[in-house]
Amino acid sequence: AKSDGKDRYVVYTPDSLENMMEEYRLEADLRGALENKEFVLHYQPQIKNETGEVIGVEALIRWNHPKFGLLSPAKFISLAEKNGLITQIGEWVLEEACIQNKKWQEAGGKPIKVSVNMSTQQFLTHNTVSLVEQVLHRTGLDPQYLVLEITEYMAMEHDNSFHVLEELRELGIGISIDDFGTGYSSLNYLKDFRIDYIKIDKSFVHEVLHDENDAIIVNAIISLAHNLGMQVIAEGVETAEQLAFLIRQDCDMTQGYFFSKPLTAEGIEKSYVRLKD
Ligand code: C2E
Ligand code: CA
Ligand code: CA
Ligand code: CA
Repeated sequence: AKSDGKDRYVVYTPDSLENMMEEYRLEADLRGALENKEFVLHYQPQIKNETGEVIGVEALIRWNHPKFGLLSPAKFISLAEKNGLITQIGEWVLEEACIQNKKWQEAGGKPIKVSVNMSTQQFLTHNTVSLVEQVLHRTGLDPQYLVLEITEYMAMEHDNSFHVLEELRELGIGISIDDFGTGYSSLNYLKDFRIDYIKIDKSFVHEVLHDENDAIIVNAIISLAHNLGMQVIAEGVETAEQLAFLIRQDCDMTQGYFFSKPLTAEGIEKSYVRLKD
């Protein structure tokens, strides 16, 4: 315990002190991580329910920390958002995902889409449209094979998000609403421009067989999406029973541990992207 000089005490439990030290250490290390090439993308397959084929992958970042090993984004994305490094990290993710997808295609794989997560900061404060345009140009990836995942918050809350989304669509890429139903509940943005995909958050999917309300919500999201001409991806699908339920509800695509955890690029090649020999 340490006195703050006014007879009040600020108590650090060993646990929170440890957390603070770890955060401090990670934040310092984060600055060098891009330069040291410590980030890596894993890819999780997205399966079309109708045919069972892999039609896309979501790129998910990991940090190969020299001391702590492979760190999940939960450990560092919010830190990177706080200190602004998320912009550079996001640029790297976008470019790396496009390079990788183009490589698979050039090696003779059946073309698939790659989905990239956008952070709020990246979406709202950066020149997203010209960045995406440049990356597509540099990597030579056909825009139809790139999807950006944004959140409801990014889509609705801001003056120019409408224009950004419209310009992104004009580039010919796909737009997906991530974690649908967990954030702000305005549906206004859905009528203003065309979204391609809605991703049902895993919090709804997990209890869908046991919680009638979750089942009702999932069903309603799917009807809403279909009536607006959008496709639905369920995330966090872990069991055959969940998959069967979702197929009965006419859900279009599935992503989750039931099919595959996120894999390295090589893992995707071996299991899902058949390349010419
Ligand atoms: P998200 O975009 O909702 O990604 C889905 C998360 O669910 C991933 O966690 C994935 O590994 C996990 N997941 C997939 N299938 C299952 C399942 O069947 N069961 C369960 N329990 N989980 C499943 P991950 O890779 O740890 O990523 C966590 C979050 O970090 C992501 O959530 C996303 O918000 C963020 N993130 C990941 N990569 C990036 C990135 O490149 N940029 C930004 N800005 N954020 C990222
Ligand atoms: Ca996502
Ligand atoms: Ca999600
Ligand atoms: Ca999520």
